[in-house]
Amino acid sequence: MTNTNTFERALRLIKAAHVAAKTIDGKGRCDDVTLCTGYAEPGYTDPDSGVIAFCNWNTISSYNNATQKRVDVDDIPNRLCAALEKIGVEIEWSDEWAVCEGCQKAVRTQADSYGWKRSYTDDDCLVCRDCVDPVAFLEELEGEENKALTFDNIDPAEHGYKKLEEEFQHGLYGGQDASPKKIAKACRKLGCTRFLFVIDDVGQFDLSFALWIHESEYDKVTAAKLDALGTKTDIDPADALKIALQNAPVATGGGDGITVTTIDVSTGTSTVKKVTAQEFIEGTAFKR
Ligand SMILES: [Zn+2]
Repeated sequence: MTNTNTFERALRLIKAAHVAAKTIDGKGRCDDVTLCTGYAEPGYTDPDSGVIAFCNWNTISSYNNATQKRVDVDDIPNRLCAALEKIGVEIEWSDEWAVCEGCQKAVRTQADSYGWKRSYTDDDCLVCRDCVDPVAFLEELEGEENKALTFDNIDPAEHGYKKLEEEFQHGLYGGQDASPKKIAKACRKLGCTRFLFVIDDVGQFDLSFALWIHESEYDKVTAAKLDALGTKTDIDPADALKIALQNAPVATGGGDGITVTTIDVSTGTSTVKKVTAQEFIEGTAFKR
């Protein structure tokens, strides 16, 4: 239950912070604060105040290349965060959370543990697992090798799908070389298009998934038929990792900046690039 008083007080604090901000960036951060009234994320309990706020609360700073030091420019996000916390607002970070466009509650968009699974979809708009229409959502996943059901609250069995009794694994521990792409291709060859993938478990370096088929097409596919057509990656991801690591340059090379090496376990290749300290701090170093 939202505490209207806390919500209004939070709004007043944000407005006051906007006025007090010394910089345009600081005012921008105040504009960016998102308030919502509860969690749509499994495992989270709504705060007593009924108000959650997310933003980038870090003090605004810039990196001085000459001195190689960070200089604080505006501490308004940090001060606003402390003030909101004081009145009971639950604090989260905007690079980890988003708001469901259905119920306006908070969903986590970044993993907080190795076993975390997504509880929202953001194809057309961002919607939490409680707000999606299960039938329409499962139909959207049909025939898609790059998408999978990760919601524990939707059971495909209740919507006309049957699970193929074979557990698939993809990961880096060796032998975990099931390929959704190959499995999808094999299904299509067998005349089945109403299939979808369900991610059952996620680990630090691997995951297990299942193939579900709509009952109208279930007889077309068997594990043996799939195996005969091929369900595995061209190269075992564990071997690809080994090759990529062996080929990754050990020396960081000359030039300014921080060396970032990215490994592609689908091909066994590595790429190296230089990023600035600012890019590294902003977390853009691993974006392709
Ligand atoms: Zn929702």
